[in-house]
Amino acid sequence: MNRTKDSSTSLRIAIQKSGRLTDKTIDLLHGIGVEFDNYKRNLMVKTRNFDVELLLLRDDDIPEYVQDGICDLGFVGANEVFEKDADVTVLRGLNYGNCRLSIAAPKDGTLQDASDFEGKTIATSYPYLTNKFFQDQGININIVEISGAVEITPQLEVADAISDLVSTGGTLRANGLQELFTILESETKLIQTNKELSPGKQQLVEKFLVRIDGYQQAKKSRYIMMNAPLEKVDSISKIIPSMKSPTIVSLAESDMVAIQTVIPINKFWEVMEELKEAGASDIVMLPIESMIL
Ligand code: ATP
Ligand code: ZN
Repeated sequence: MNRTKDSSTSLRIAIQKSGRLTDKTIDLLHGIGVEFDNYKRNLMVKTRNFDVELLLLRDDDIPEYVQDGICDLGFVGANEVFEKDADVTVLRGLNYGNCRLSIAAPKDGTLQDASDFEGKTIATSYPYLTNKFFQDQGININIVEISGAVEITPQLEVADAISDLVSTGGTLRANGLQELFTILESETKLIQTNKELSPGKQQLVEKFLVRIDGYQQAKKSRYIMMNAPLEKVDSISKIIPSMKSPTIVSLAESDMVAIQTVIPINKFWEVMEELKEAGASDIVMLPIESMIL
């Protein structure tokens, strides 16, 4: 699958064609200014404003495409990257597509501790990670590799337990299974090939990383504005959990000012009441598209 050095000058990025990661990955690409359309009908999409092409693939195939240098970058779950033991560099964790690879067994059954699994059969789509988890503890298990509907296999007596991706645990419960241990916490990763990139492509990667960091920071932040009497500015500023001092703008009413700043989203509700008590009024919170620090 090796690609000759100059077979493409465009930076080629692999994303999941259709599945749980697709919409958020497309939102992120749009959010960092990569413009394209018609991705639903094509396997390869050229972008309008960068020398970038997107390759739409099954998520399972992305780690190897990136490892082999067919794609330069890829957006894919850590579960797939580590299952394929891919020789790639993880550039960023992107905090979407979060899930965990867990071992689950019939509820209230005899399988509780890892040592209970000696000689047992586990059904999974993740044979490498599952085997490794038990091998590292010196426990021998048998694997039945299954590509879908793994959670039904204990009822069918195909396996004693399963190793599968879980997010809420609802599917496990619905099938009478109990989650016992987590093998891997997963999220979507941005990965890069370890094959050498041309200086132009590498520069573009660096540029995207700055934008991705800004995009992620913005997602965690809100712009807040409020009005306050001038003499309350000091006490209000002390309550605001922002790293930089807020912007103060005078209002037509000479004893009133507007205070503007960026705060972490999770702090907003904590301080809102305090701000009001300290004399702030007309508090407005706005989402931020991106921020470059
Ligand atoms: P493809 O056709 O691309 O192979 P798929 O059916 O294997 O698709 P999806 O179900 O779309 O894959 O899941 C894609 C990724 O979403 C998973 O590999 C994982 O990283 C992440 N994910 C997040 N939550 C879950 C979950 N509850 N179950 C499965 N995958 C999840
Ligand atoms: Zn898949």
